[in-house]
Amino acid sequence: MATKEEILRELYPEDLFHYADGLTLGEAEVLQETRRLIEKHLRPVINEYWEAPDFPFEEFYAVAKGAQIMNNPKLFEGREGNYKPSELYIAFLYLELARFDASIATFFTVHGGLCYNTILLGGDERQQKEFLPKLAAFDWQGCFALTEPLSGSDIAGGLATTAERVGDKWILNGEKRWIGGSDTADVVPVFARDVADGKVKCFIV
Ligand SMILES: Cc1cc2nc3c(=O)[nH]c(=O)nc-3n(C[C@H](O)[C@H](O)[C@H](O)COP(=O)(O)OP(=O)(O)OC[C@H]3O[C@@H](n4cnc5c(N)ncnc54)[C@H](O)[C@@H]3O)c2cc1C
Repeated sequence: MATKEEILRELYPEDLFHYADGLTLGEAEVLQETRRLIEKHLRPVINEYWEAPDFPFEEFYAVAKGAQIMNNPKLFEGREGNYKPSELYIAFLYLELARFDASIATFFTVHGGLCYNTILLGGDERQQKEFLPKLAAFDWQGCFALTEPLSGSDIAGGLATTAERVGDKWILNGEKRWIGGSDTADVVPVFARDVADGKVKCFIV
């Protein structure tokens, strides 16, 4: 069994300021396994996807599920009960994905960052229990629907999609644009303005 220092020397020889020293052995092992699976599953196909209007789902999930990049028990040693691995591990995970391919990393930023964190930080306990484990296991794909055709940077003030409570249902009306992964996602947090109080709220569609 390699020590943490040996794994980190192999993975990040360029880490002159020793940022990775704060990782646990378990986190280092998951990152090492992630890199191994990227080389095995994604490396052989990624060039074909460079210009294809498609995403290598099968190969990406072979990596994400194989290394359990969001829910490996090794990531939660000493921090049991948390829904999210440590921020330092997540930073190195982004590095690990992005050094290989920026689009693969972007896919994960939407799924594991924007969507996951929206439900983690804004969802209630029932929603966290229902959605987060399936997203962390990559059984469901998540995306994030904030931007609209007429509002980008100014979305907080300009958000025009409406939400109206009718009986026991909410009716959402409006348009979204630039929603990466929305054509294949299972879980879409949609931001809309409640017509009753004018407040922006998020709906898990
Ligand atoms: C590939 C891609 C994927 C995306 N994925 C998602 C997604 O999954 N979900 C989602 O919700 N959104 C997504 N977006 C949208 C992204 O968040 C918006 O593009 C971003 O918020 C900027 O909005 P905009 O493109 O409308 O530009 P605008 O807001 O119209 O800005 C245009 C330009 O004006 C400048 N500008 C804007 N306001 C000011 C100001 N007050 N002062 C000075 N300069 C200003 C900006 O810096 C920029 O250069 C994605 C965008 C891209 C390109």
